[in-house]
Amino acid sequence: MATDGTGVKVIVVGAGFGGLASAIECHRQGHSVTIYEAFPELKILGDIISFGPNAGRIFYRWGDGNGSIVNRMRPLSIDTRGYGFNIRKFDTGEIIVNQPAAEYPTDAPALNGHRGELHEIVFNHVKDELKIPIHLGKRIDEYFEDEEGSGIILDCGTKVRADVVIAADGVKSRARQAVLGYEDKPKSSGYAVWRSWFPNTDMVADPETAAFCARDTFNGWIGPNKHFLFSTIKGGQDVCWVLTHPDTHDIDESWSFPGNLDEVREALEGWDPLCARIISKTPQDRVVDWKLVYRDPLPTWVSPRGRILLLGDSAHPFLPTSAQGAAQALEDAVTIAVCLRKAGGGGGVPRALRTHERIRYDRVCKIQKTGESTRDMWHKTDWDAVRKDPKLIEFPRPEWIFSHDAEKHAEQVFDEVAQSLDADKARDE
Ligand SMILES: Cc1cc2nc3c(=O)[nH]c(=O)nc-3n(C[C@H](O)[C@H](O)[C@H](O)COP(=O)(O)OP(=O)(O)OC[C@H]3O[C@@H](n4cnc5c(N)ncnc54)[C@H](O)[C@@H]3O)c2cc1C
Repeated sequence: MATDGTGVKVIVVGAGFGGLASAIECHRQGHSVTIYEAFPELKILGDIISFGPNAGRIFYRWGDGNGSIVNRMRPLSIDTRGYGFNIRKFDTGEIIVNQPAAEYPTDAPALNGHRGELHEIVFNHVKDELKIPIHLGKRIDEYFEDEEGSGIILDCGTKVRADVVIAADGVKSRARQAVLGYEDKPKSSGYAVWRSWFPNTDMVADPETAAFCARDTFNGWIGPNKHFLFSTIKGGQDVCWVLTHPDTHDIDESWSFPGNLDEVREALEGWDPLCARIISKTPQDRVVDWKLVYRDPLPTWVSPRGRILLLGDSAHPFLPTSAQGAAQALEDAVTIAVCLRKAGGGGGVPRALRTHERIRYDRVCKIQKTGESTRDMWHKTDWDAVRKDPKLIEFPRPEWIFSHDAEKHAEQVFDEVAQSLDADKARDE
């Protein structure tokens, strides 16, 4: 679906999932869009990332509108049908519960895979198939807006104007200051993760770990204040683990550093020896120490004149235990694209942004909290209670999150929400 041109000119800052999704959705809704991104070339970065079915439904509509992009992503994504998720006690390693893999509709799949590999598919779709202009190597530090439009100032000094700027510039967003009028620094969440992704070579050579490489698998060890998630993926060819642990280091620094395997081993002392066995197969240069930053919900995602919107992590970073950060960036993208079409260009833009915010805000804040609740549920497990009801430690799959169709929802509620905002404004004037 690409509707007739709406005449709305959109600048997107950032070519992560939030920025690329914004560009695709704006294109689908008929807006004219250009992307500016700081990285000079695409690199396959990161490791495991999760897209629940609420995001899969969005991917499914891209390309031919019938799953062509999903068909490229599926072979790179974990397939645990027939295996499920083994949730284990941290010290004994016994499997307390096997949570079966969920079945989702074809047009709303869950896709969990390597962030860089999935990102490359979306990036190439935007660049080569949709031919949306992407300017790489352009770092944006300044934003401006007036009654007629908004824009960015590139690091070379060039000014670019449009009707609206969507700032999908990530957790360390510069746009946030332009929107809020003050610097809002991220806080430590009190936790960090060590994470790794590597080929299965050494795992296959060890009889104790080889079986994990015969197919895709997913196991999690749950302990006091820590949890260790381990998967094999792409038919067991790649290995990936994530260890969440307490950490209160200065998070003003980069969010991602090289990790130290000795520290990882130390953190797992007293745990099931299989964990140390898996860690022993990990190449030292493949460990990342990733600080989990947190922000209290921002008072607003919309600039004072309603022409700059924070989207994705720049508006609302998520903890990995929600498994929803990237999915919520996609839902944002769908919603703003619909709102811009419904409100129209010119004077309609501020109404579109404020309506988008009102449609999205409560849902996003509620889902952000699931990151804390799942983490705390695991880290403070009452093992006696769990033995009586093992379902208590299953990974939550809330229907209200997964069955949400962001596009349909925005189409349905736009008029009502926009009118309630109009009424609020009239009352305040
Ligand atoms: C390199 C990298 C690796 C990641 N790895 C993982 C992972 O393994 N697992 C996981 O769950 N999540 C990972 N994430 C985070 C995850 O991708 C996001 O949480 C989620 O997809 C929401 O995306 P976003 O587009 O809002 O933000 P991001 O994915 O952070 O994208 C923001 C983009 O904006 C660009 N940018 C930032 N500042 C500027 C500026 N001033 N001017 C122009 N461009 C700018 C950045 O280069 C980046 O491409 C990673 C993010 C990055 C950037």
